Amino acid sequence: MPLDPKRTVRDLKELRELSSDTNGAQRVAWTDTWLSAREWFQTKLTGLPVEFHQDAAGNNWFTVHGRSPEALLLGGHLDSVPNGGWLDGSLGVLASLEVLRRMVDEFSGEPPVTIRLVDWADEEGARFGRSLFGSSAFAGTHSIEADRSRTDKDGIRLEDAVRRCEIEIERIGEASRERENACAYLELHIEQGPVLERMELPLAAVLGTKGVERHTVTFFGQEAHSGSTPMSVRRDALAAAAKLALEIRPIAVRHKDAVCTMGSVKTFPGIVTAVVGRCEATLDQRDLDPGVLDAMHREAIEASERFAREERCTVEWSRIWNIEPVPFHSELIGLCRDAIREVAGEAPALPSGPLHDAAEVSRAGIPTVMMFVQSLGGISHNKIEDTKEEYIELSVAALDRLATKTARWIQDGGE
Ligand SMILES: [Zn+2]
Repeated sequence: MPLDPKRTVRDLKELRELSSDTNGAQRVAWTDTWLSAREWFQTKLTGLPVEFHQDAAGNNWFTVHGRSPEALLLGGHLDSVPNGGWLDGSLGVLASLEVLRRMVDEFSGEPPVTIRLVDWADEEGARFGRSLFGSSAFAGTHSIEADRSRTDKDGIRLEDAVRRCEIEIERIGEASRERENACAYLELHIEQGPVLERMELPLAAVLGTKGVERHTVTFFGQEAHSGSTPMSVRRDALAAAAKLALEIRPIAVRHKDAVCTMGSVKTFPGIVTAVVGRCEATLDQRDLDPGVLDAMHREAIEASERFAREERCTVEWSRIWNIEPVPFHSELIGLCRDAIREVAGEAPALPSGPLHDAAEVSRAGIPTVMMFVQSLGGISHNKIEDTKEEYIELSVAALDRLATKTARWIQDGGE
């Protein structure tokens, strides 16, 4: 059977039918709906010369042995957020299936290199707040200690939820065995943002995932009565925070693809009759270049100190979380752009704001690249998430070409 991208669209709709309700996709990891989606996926592989096993972290692996043990990995994640979209994660899995079918057909069951399709476990972290669960265990970047203490909103422990799916939390690190012979990893995903739609282009190669610096910025002023305190003597912590909220825009704009967000502001005492004595804001800064990330962080600190002085306040910073940028493999980015050019003409390259399993695979030292397909309205993690069917089909065709090029690159000794 030659490649049939329309079949991928049909498969995606079948999965949507099976695992969504009126509020959207409900394939939250470790739930019955997720397990039945995974069972459904297994039935899609019946008749193909595929070896199946689940690794110690719950990632599902489907292997077609090639003439060489060197392996090309393709994948995505079948899990979704609650009330999620029909394409996030599942497009990567079902497009990879179509590529697998085509390769099995073309090479009579034995492609030149081994092809492994992976369905990562719990990419979203929607229930326990731990994203990239399976891929981080594969990469060896997980922490069993931190994972053991996680609970969902009903108090159920992650440890118990995964045990129900036959995963022992102590042993998830054994998923790193799957790295053996892994020579490259490819992942197709919806963009989940508005950039490609604004460019009026269907596909892009992904340069890497942006690093994140996430901090709490607390301004301290003086609580005072809102009626008796003249404007000239106030020490208003909210005023200083508000100036910073506006200043992060020029800070981000100075750097091409950077973004800065003040997503939460809390005021104390937080009543209508008091000048704000303390204001806690959060700042999330992202960029693909570690130097830019560093510069933006310093610029925001400098600005916050200036605004604190202007408002006769003080400011303190504390880090909530951070992650380094993960650049993808430059030669694979080149192959990805070639593949896109062949099916769609123009081939832009973008950084990814959201994290993906591909970042963990890349951190494990395996050459990795992702491909994005346009998202309508840039909306994701929502039931209205959508992509034009003709673009879904184009993305499957482009992934297929990228897989062929990457298999050849592996055979030629690429690393
Ligand atoms: Zn995803």
